[in-house]
Amino acid sequence: MTIQLYNTATRRKEVFEPLDPDNVRMYVCGPTVYDRAHLGNARPVLVFDVLFRLLRHVCGEDAVTYVRNFTDVDDKINATALARKEAGADGTLEELVAERSDETIGWYHADMDALGALRPSQEPRATQYIVQMVAMIEDLIGKGFAYAKDGHVLFRVREYDKYGALSGRSVDDMIAGARVEIAPYKEDPMDFVLWKPSDDDLPGWDSPWGRGRPGWHIECSAMAYDLLGDTFDIHGGGNDLQFPHHENEIAQSKCAGHGFARFWMHNEMLQVEGKKMSKSLGNFFTVRDLLDQGVPGEVIRFVMLSTHYRKPMDWTEKKRAEAEKILRKWYAQAIQAVGTGEPYFGVTNALSDDLNTAGAIAELHQLSLAEDFTALRHSLQFLGLMGDEAPEWAVPKGFDFMDYVDALKASRRAAMETKDFAIVDRLKSGLLAAGVEVRMTKDSVDLLPGPNFDPSKLEGLL
Ligand code: AMP
Ligand code: ZN
Repeated sequence: MTIQLYNTATRRKEVFEPLDPDNVRMYVCGPTVYDRAHLGNARPVLVFDVLFRLLRHVCGEDAVTYVRNFTDVDDKINATALARKEAGADGTLEELVAERSDETIGWYHADMDALGALRPSQEPRATQYIVQMVAMIEDLIGKGFAYAKDGHVLFRVREYDKYGALSGRSVDDMIAGARVEIAPYKEDPMDFVLWKPSDDDLPGWDSPWGRGRPGWHIECSAMAYDLLGDTFDIHGGGNDLQFPHHENEIAQSKCAGHGFARFWMHNEMLQVEGKKMSKSLGNFFTVRDLLDQGVPGEVIRFVMLSTHYRKPMDWTEKKRAEAEKILRKWYAQAIQAVGTGEPYFGVTNALSDDLNTAGAIAELHQLSLAEDFTALRHSLQFLGLMGDEAPEWAVPKGFDFMDYVDALKASRRAAMETKDFAIVDRLKSGLLAAGVEVRMTKDSVDLLPGPNFDPSKLEGLL
């Protein structure tokens, strides 16, 4: 199967051939772990989870290394830790910072697990790679691409002539448009921080430039190099990271002499009811908020995947309700699957075209219509929309359509003798009332749950 991916760096779809088919390598910028992930943060997680699944399917389960970092060097994490310390919490500031990061990472795992996202192969924390960052910064200084001033180390943006190529901007345009900070320790306002000093109220590490902490961009360059090597296949993240974060990652890594990423992939942003999600508009919510309101993780995942990753995605109440209905029907069909199987070719084929998840979902609709329950089940599982069993919110544990099929068959056999079809009719109308179409021929009984299937209405029928 040929995979085509849109490469932001070249602005076109390209055939994706891994550098090493036995070790396909992908790096995705992960969260800054200062608080619960909001719904927008879940989008790159789900997009790159589908890509991870596709690559594993095509190249082999063990042939893909997916690295997604945790940024645990951050002022908001420090602020929470400091507030706790001032409120009398036990432990050093460093310990309280680590505690806050641990707590947030625990939430992140629980929330993303609930969305059916596989854990990446590696989830490095920035604080565990300070040595590698310092080494990379020293190398950049040695090569003339960075300079130290007043405890800071800065990257000389104008020394890298391809700066801006990823997002298609010139340095001068960027200066005009961006909020570049002018500071006495900068040679040029465009230069960005590789290292900055920490005072006693902040976590810090010893370095050749004094006690301090790394800038955000160097984290990803150093971790990607350490874990994935000089050149790797795919680098991903949200569109908002293209500039400055990814431009800066590229500048640092290329100037350090690394090949860095071959394919750059960016998901578009998530909106809510047509508007940007923001605290000031009052439409900001976390993944946990939705889960707590009873919106199942599968429903969130389905809604996210129903829009292509390069288009803005609009979360709406209408889509949520629709997704829930469709999934209820599909699960009730999928649990009737027999035998083993593979994800349907149409599904993987759609994904191989630049991750056409909407196309993959259209294929699921076709499988449902064609009553190919086995292919439907394996495709749902492949897409992360179903585990070994259907989720309990849709199909109660232990529920089995075969019980109803058997009861219908037995009561029909009995009715042939007695000519009294009352029991058969009662079963049929009970199933109908629960949203299940009953198809009986001379030799077979088929039950077809519709979008209004509600297993709770079947209680007491048998
Ligand atoms: P952050 O923790 O802010 O660095 O974001 C973590 C990831 O979420 C990054 O890949 C961002 O690009 C992505 N992200 C943040 N906001 C949104 C949004 N509204 N829609 C889609 N992705 C987002
Ligand atoms: Zn990054």
